[in-house]
Amino acid sequence: MSGARGQAKMVILEDCRHTALFNPPPIIGDAVWCRRCQSYRSVGRLVDEWTIRCFRCNLSRAYGEDEQGARAAVGRHRLRYTGHVVALSKGPRLVETFGVDERPDYLQWVDSHPLHQGSLRALTDRSVTET
Ligand SMILES: [Zn+2]
Ligand SMILES: [Zn+2]
Repeated sequence: MSGARGQAKMVILEDCRHTALFNPPPIIGDAVWCRRCQSYRSVGRLVDEWTIRCFRCNLSRAYGEDEQGARAAVGRHRLRYTGHVVALSKGPRLVETFGVDERPDYLQWVDSHPLHQGSLRALTDRSVTET
Protein backbone atom coordinates (compact mmCIF):
# COMPACT_ATOMS: atom_id res chain seq x y z
CA MET A 1 0.00 0.00 0.00
CA SER A 2 1.50 3.29 -1.09
CA GLY A 3 -0.96 5.43 0.87
CA ALA A 4 -0.30 8.48 -1.25
CA ARG A 5 -3.97 9.29 -1.14
CA GLY A 6 -5.55 9.64 2.29
CA GLN A 7 -2.66 11.56 3.78
CA ALA A 8 -4.45 14.85 3.32
CA LYS A 9 -5.97 16.17 6.50
CA MET A 10 -8.72 18.70 6.76
CA VAL A 11 -7.63 21.73 8.70
CA ILE A 12 -9.90 23.92 10.80
CA LEU A 13 -8.57 27.44 11.01
CA GLU A 14 -8.60 28.97 14.45
CA ASP A 15 -9.57 32.56 13.78
CA CYS A 16 -12.17 32.28 11.04
CA ARG A 17 -13.51 28.69 11.42
CA HIS A 18 -13.00 28.08 7.73
CA THR A 19 -11.78 24.69 6.61
CA ALA A 20 -9.11 23.78 4.12
CA LEU A 21 -7.36 20.68 2.86
CA PHE A 22 -3.58 20.49 3.04
CA ASN A 23 -1.27 17.75 1.90
CA PRO A 24 1.01 17.37 3.72
CA PRO A 25 -0.90 18.74 6.71
CA PRO A 26 0.50 21.73 8.60
CA ILE A 27 1.17 21.78 12.34
CA ILE A 28 -1.34 23.20 14.82
CA GLY A 29 -0.52 26.86 15.34
CA ASP A 30 1.03 27.30 11.90
CA ALA A 31 -0.04 30.33 9.92
CA VAL A 32 -1.64 29.30 6.64
CA TRP A 33 -3.26 31.29 3.87
CA CYS A 34 -7.07 31.27 4.00
CA ARG A 35 -8.44 31.66 0.51
CA ARG A 36 -11.85 32.75 1.70
CA CYS A 37 -10.56 35.46 4.05
CA GLN A 38 -7.65 36.37 1.77
CA SER A 39 -5.40 36.58 4.80
CA TYR A 40 -3.22 34.44 7.05
CA ARG A 41 -4.93 32.45 9.79
CA SER A 42 -3.53 30.08 12.38
CA VAL A 43 -4.30 26.36 12.33
CA GLY A 44 -6.65 25.39 15.15
CA ARG A 45 -7.35 21.72 14.58
CA LEU A 46 -6.57 18.86 12.20
CA VAL A 47 -9.41 16.46 11.56
CA ASP A 48 -9.99 13.43 9.41
CA GLU A 49 -12.53 14.18 6.75
CA TRP A 50 -15.65 12.09 6.15
CA THR A 51 -15.72 10.82 2.59
CA ILE A 52 -18.02 8.58 0.60
CA ARG A 53 -17.07 6.53 -2.42
CA CYS A 54 -19.16 4.29 -4.64
CA PHE A 55 -17.71 1.06 -6.02
CA ARG A 56 -20.20 0.94 -8.88
CA CYS A 57 -19.89 4.43 -10.33
CA ASN A 58 -17.51 7.34 -9.99
CA LEU A 59 -19.19 9.00 -7.01
CA SER A 60 -16.55 10.33 -4.63
CA ARG A 61 -17.26 13.19 -2.29
CA ALA A 62 -15.91 14.74 0.91
CA TYR A 63 -18.01 16.13 3.74
CA GLY A 64 -15.49 17.58 6.15
CA GLU A 65 -16.60 16.95 9.73
CA ASP A 66 -20.21 16.40 8.69
CA GLU A 67 -20.82 12.70 9.41
CA GLN A 68 -24.59 13.11 9.18
CA GLY A 69 -24.25 14.83 5.81
CA ALA A 70 -22.05 12.03 4.52
CA ARG A 71 -24.45 9.34 5.76
CA ALA A 72 -27.43 11.17 4.26
CA ALA A 73 -25.62 11.36 0.93
CA VAL A 74 -24.98 7.61 1.03
CA GLY A 75 -28.70 7.05 1.64
CA ARG A 76 -29.72 9.33 -1.21
CA HIS A 77 -27.27 7.72 -3.62
CA ARG A 78 -28.38 4.20 -2.82
CA LEU A 79 -32.03 5.18 -3.09
CA ARG A 80 -31.42 6.57 -6.54
CA TYR A 81 -29.05 3.86 -7.79
CA THR A 82 -30.28 0.52 -6.56
CA GLY A 83 -27.54 -1.99 -5.85
CA HIS A 84 -24.69 0.49 -5.64
CA VAL A 85 -22.14 -0.26 -2.94
CA VAL A 86 -20.93 2.82 -1.09
CA ALA A 87 -18.01 3.06 1.34
CA LEU A 88 -18.06 5.59 4.17
CA SER A 89 -14.60 6.56 5.45
CA LYS A 90 -13.14 8.89 8.02
CA GLY A 91 -9.72 9.96 6.81
CA PRO A 92 -7.89 6.85 5.62
CA ARG A 93 -10.06 4.51 7.73
CA LEU A 94 -13.05 2.66 6.26
CA VAL A 95 -15.94 3.01 8.70
CA GLU A 96 -18.81 1.27 6.97
CA THR A 97 -19.77 -0.24 3.63
CA PHE A 98 -23.37 0.03 2.49
CA GLY A 99 -25.00 -2.39 0.09
CA VAL A 100 -22.74 -5.42 0.50
CA ASP A 101 -25.31 -7.73 2.05
CA GLU A 102 -27.95 -7.10 -0.58
CA ARG A 103 -26.79 -10.08 -2.53
CA PRO A 104 -28.69 -12.51 -4.73
CA ASP A 105 -30.67 -15.12 -2.82
CA TYR A 106 -28.48 -18.01 -3.90
CA LEU A 107 -25.42 -16.45 -2.24
CA GLN A 108 -27.33 -15.99 1.02
CA TRP A 109 -28.46 -19.57 0.79
CA VAL A 110 -24.83 -20.69 0.38
CA ASP A 111 -23.89 -18.71 3.52
CA SER A 112 -26.50 -20.50 5.59
CA HIS A 113 -25.48 -23.90 4.18
CA PRO A 114 -21.68 -23.88 4.53
CA LEU A 115 -21.33 -27.57 3.64
CA HIS A 116 -22.67 -26.91 0.17
CA GLN A 117 -20.35 -24.01 -0.43
CA GLY A 118 -17.61 -25.98 -2.13
CA SER A 119 -19.86 -27.71 -4.63
CA LEU A 120 -21.66 -24.49 -5.48
CA ARG A 121 -18.62 -22.27 -5.79
CA ALA A 122 -18.03 -22.99 -9.47
CA LEU A 123 -21.64 -22.21 -10.24
CA THR A 124 -21.74 -18.93 -8.32
CA ASP A 125 -18.38 -17.77 -9.67
CA ARG A 126 -19.61 -18.19 -13.20
CA SER A 127 -22.84 -16.37 -12.43
CA VAL A 128 -20.95 -13.42 -11.02
CA THR A 129 -18.56 -13.02 -13.95
CA GLU A 130 -21.35 -13.24 -16.49
CA THR A 131 -23.32 -10.31 -15.12
ZN1 LIG B 1 -11.02 32.19 6.65
ZN1 LIG C 1 -22.90 4.69 -7.36
